[in-house]
Amino acid sequence: MSFTLAIVGRPNVGKSTLFNRLVGKRLALVDDTPGVTRDLREGDARLGDLRFIVIDSAGLELAEDDSLQGRMRRLTERAVEEADICLFVVDARVGVTPADEIFADILRRKNANVILAANKAEGNAGEAGALEAWSLGLGEPLRISAEHGEGMDDLYHVLRPLADDFAAKNVAALPETDVVIEDELSEDDIPAYIPPSAAKPLQLAVIGRPNAGKSTLINKILNEDRLLTGPEAGITRDAISVKTDYMGTPMRIWDTAGMRKKARVNEKLEKLSVADGLRAVRFAEVVVVLLDVNIPFETQDLRIADFAETEGRAVVVAANKWDLEDDKPAKLLELREAFERLLPQLKGAPLVTVSAKTGKGLDRLHAAILKAHEVWNRRVPTAKLNNWLSAMTEAHPPPAPGGRRIKLRYMTQAKTRPPGFVVKATHTDKIPEAYGRYLVNGLRESFDMGGTPIRIYFRDQG
Ligand code: GDP
Ligand code: GDP
Repeated sequence: MSFTLAIVGRPNVGKSTLFNRLVGKRLALVDDTPGVTRDLREGDARLGDLRFIVIDSAGLELAEDDSLQGRMRRLTERAVEEADICLFVVDARVGVTPADEIFADILRRKNANVILAANKAEGNAGEAGALEAWSLGLGEPLRISAEHGEGMDDLYHVLRPLADDFAAKNVAALPETDVVIEDELSEDDIPAYIPPSAAKPLQLAVIGRPNAGKSTLINKILNEDRLLTGPEAGITRDAISVKTDYMGTPMRIWDTAGMRKKARVNEKLEKLSVADGLRAVRFAEVVVVLLDVNIPFETQDLRIADFAETEGRAVVVAANKWDLEDDKPAKLLELREAFERLLPQLKGAPLVTVSAKTGKGLDRLHAAILKAHEVWNRRVPTAKLNNWLSAMTEAHPPPAPGGRRIKLRYMTQAKTRPPGFVVKATHTDKIPEAYGRYLVNGLRESFDMGGTPIRIYFRDQG
């Protein structure tokens, strides 16, 4: 899944029909449970070989409490913020209406990446309306028929380059398992670290088990109630994200706060939601694993933290509800000890104490996130690495299975996000795992690389 497409437009133009066509039966969560209201419907879409997330902003007509227009406007704005690309649908048979112009305005104001589609244009229908849609000033209208599946190949050809472009900018959204390590990379092949910016916000996920304080923390960071917590919280389904400015750093926070709220409704939803939490990890560069300081490092916490490490994300562990702690120094020692023992794979990752409720420690958390992000992007020059490698093998030589000593000849960094190193060696199949760990821990200490997974790839060199 590479990008998120939001289908927007006024009621009745065919948004849901198009959503259903793109998603088919793959809708992740069918929302017929009483008490679960939703606004933005989301599903996994397919179009040719493209896989993406589609958000449908239809179904708003059900709102009773509020003026339809106001609500629609807000939700459209939210859909636009969450999406990478917007598909703006108008009705080719009706032509451009004043409501369409309002939507066009929102899209322009939000500077959205817009594809314009004139729907209900099957056969030769709607030619005049499609032409009229040029007047919206959003480029060439694609003529499509959601109901009859016409124009989908055109849609594909418009989406394809945008999808590629997005994938190139968002390496983080690619699963780590897709990484191919070329043998002959040099440090110059790895792009230098670019700090987060408005154009490329740091992708952050806050994960943790129900009641750890995720919603409270995210709301505190956002400093406004944009995540819709409270009784209405069931409407945040799946992973959604919001852009924000956390102490001056542009970030996009992936929210999984809906987990607990849905768990209250029924079992089935809860299971899906845990998967959603993990899904947020896939979009994140830095993952904050939030613990409840009263019950830290329980099985669920360990699993969540381990998942973030396996996925190759930078990890910061935050112990929340610190305000409730009386004997802070003793508790801190206890936490550190448990951390080292239970999460050796995250050795060196920062452990910060926070109170989401009072806001205390949010500055430390911010600093730890930035540092972890930088370390996750860290490059170590080849010359330094090789000096280091000789010192390491001298201090603690690799074993000699069957009398033939393993030789580690040469080392270079092959990737970042997270850092990955290739070591050319003899008898690579005989190198014990413990020796790999020795090198990884050594790299952490020598190059100050706590907070990121580190990968070592041994390559045979006779
Ligand atoms: P939404 O309110 O924008 O989600 O619109 P819907 O998807 O509910 O569609 C509104 C109406 O337009 C329904 O009666 C659909 O059957 C009809 N419709 C949707 N797409 C097409 C199309 O491509 N051609 C025609 N002729 N009708 C369509
Ligand atoms: P989530 O399920 O992880 O999103 O957790 P919530 O944010 O809904 O918080 C669960 C409960 O813990 C709520 O009653 C919060 O008020 C409380 N809580 C969250 N953070 C703190 C904190 O830092 N200190 C204290 N004392 N309570 C907190």
